[in-house]
Amino acid sequence: MDNCLFCKIINKEIPAPRVYEDENAIVIRDINPQAPVHLLALPRRHYSGVHEVNAADNNLFGQLFQAVTRVVEQEKLAGQGYRLVVNFGEKAGQTVPHIHVHILSGRLLQWPPG
Ligand code: 5GP
Ligand code: ZN
Repeated sequence: MDNCLFCKIINKEIPAPRVYEDENAIVIRDINPQAPVHLLALPRRHYSGVHEVNAADNNLFGQLFQAVTRVVEQEKLAGQGYRLVVNFGEKAGQTVPHIHVHILSGRLLQWPPG
């Protein structure tokens, strides 16, 4: 997607240090962290939301969660707990229309979310 911020980060047109990457996904630090650890896992393939992923491409979810798993291990997040969030649409707080899993950790996380 030409005008997508996260596609530009994935293509290295915009710099963002990578905490983790593999052939299917990258993980970066959120520029405006909402917790001591706030990472974003991005599939390399562009979709705006999970419901748009073609059935023929449903391996995308396994690949994306594999990247999440690797980074949870790498950053040793399981011991302190972590939360995964995927927003879709303005009303849910989505600001970048490219699927991303927020990985939040390092503080007490309230429930329900706002
Ligand atoms: P959303 O609101 O769409 O669920 O999440 C988008 C996230 O991307 C936000 O938490 C925001 O802080 C983060 N973000 C926006 N622009 C950039 C950027 O240029 N670099 C990085 N690393 N994160 C960004
Ligand atoms: Zn994109």
